[in-house]
Amino acid sequence: MVTGIVAGRLALVTGAGSGIGRAACQVLSREGATVIAADLNYDSAMETIKTIPLASGANAVGDHSAIELEVSQSASVQKALDTAMEHYKAPPTIIVNSAGIVRDNWLLKMSEEDFDKVVAVNLKGTFLVMQTFAKALTAASLPGSIINISSIVGKYGNMGQVNYVGSKAGVVGMSRVAALELGKSNIRVNAILPGFIDTPIIKSVPEKVMKEFLARIPLGRQADPVEVGELITYLASEKSSYVNGAVIDIAGGL
Ligand code: NAP
Repeated sequence: MVTGIVAGRLALVTGAGSGIGRAACQVLSREGATVIAADLNYDSAMETIKTIPLASGANAVGDHSAIELEVSQSASVQKALDTAMEHYKAPPTIIVNSAGIVRDNWLLKMSEEDFDKVVAVNLKGTFLVMQTFAKALTAASLPGSIINISSIVGKYGNMGQVNYVGSKAGVVGMSRVAALELGKSNIRVNAILPGFIDTPIIKSVPEKVMKEFLARIPLGRQADPVEVGELITYLASEKSSYVNGAVIDIAGGL
């Protein structure tokens, strides 16, 4: 018998091969969910699966699995859904959009290619995954919870990230629309805004800039990705059954 606040649920996590996505898989599985770890890099998604114990027990949906997924390509997203349906005979009722990239530069120097790439993964990717998986949930008349990972900079802006900030502000707007449209199907959609989380994506932040940011964080430190996984799992669970269309900072007070 699996126990926990998401026991017996099936979760799809994108960007699951690293950082927040990997931590989300770990906390969701600790709380009883079966996890589909999806990432551009299949091997890293499989590495994530190897870090979590087998899902076993009468109420478990099945064992965890890893899939290759390019979130910006609709055919790849559809294939991920088809694979999940074939394997588990039902769509995931928890969907976590954690895949994301940065390609930083100043506004005056940003190439069109880097702008398009970041928007394609962070914004369009979130759209495609939400649309594809929410369609499957409504077709099966299943309730669900979608958690989109935006960023605190989507709210306040950040120099050198015109593409990233634009994409993350867009994720907030899209999440609000999705919450309005999907609420009647009992599919909740929420966005979270992480601050500085200790994952590979922030390794490119120059040390001087990082020091300045740390000085502005009231808690005085970066977060462990597991702390973000805890919030994701709360939003995935029925503990947050009346939380819908919310935009929640997880930034240590930044
Ligand atoms: P991360 O460690 O770099 O993880 C991102 C994961 O997404 C990587 O495994 C990456 O795979 C995967 N990915 C990239 N492009 C993809 C695509 N097109 N399709 C599928 N998967 C793709 O970064 P993270 O810190 O965990 O970030 C997770 C989310 O949180 C992102 O949306 C990020 O913008 C957001 N966020 C992070 C922070 C922070 O401080 N860490 C703050 C605010 C928001 P590869 O490594 O193979 O490319």
